[in-house]
Amino acid sequence: MINAGTFMQLLATKQLTFSKSGLSLFNMPIVFCPAPFLSEFQQYLEKKYGYEKARDLLIEGFKGGGASFTKNYAKSNKFKHKRDIIQWSLDLMSNAGWGEFKILELDEEQRLAKFSIANSPFTKLIKSNKPVDHIIVGLIKGVAENLIFEQPMEVIETKCQAKGDALCEIIVRPTTNHKKKSRNK
Ligand SMILES: [Zn+2]
Repeated sequence: MINAGTFMQLLATKQLTFSKSGLSLFNMPIVFCPAPFLSEFQQYLEKKYGYEKARDLLIEGFKGGGASFTKNYAKSNKFKHKRDIIQWSLDLMSNAGWGEFKILELDEEQRLAKFSIANSPFTKLIKSNKPVDHIIVGLIKGVAENLIFEQPMEVIETKCQAKGDALCEIIVRPTTNHKKKSRNK
């Protein structure tokens, strides 16, 4: 749910600024990007490279941005707990129009997390029988690998509103554990 109060607070504390030199959020340049800029790009990649290759390119391509943006903020705002970074990131994404994010499960010891998303812009713009929120998955993967669990993580969208599920669902788990598990099957 968009909470305009968050933007007012960011403006009041000058963390969000508008000037001749551009827009800035937490001292990083930002743009208001209409979601079709991204969804059209995604669909172009999919047409050119196929679903899986396009998905992997987007996930790997966006994780760096997710990590550097969040790292920049986390540096100046010391979070006490990793859960706080996750909650902050999800709240910011919810407020910035990426959908409504909720933490369903978080086990820091086992390095497992599960999130739900409602109404992501991608589910409104892309109709598919497969999950479509690859860019969001990439951003979450960047934060999970670089700021939360600090190891390679597998981030998968298991349910998606684009294909008729009630909510999108994203699972985060260690890459190595999963490989071990699949080998044992
Ligand atoms: Zn989805």
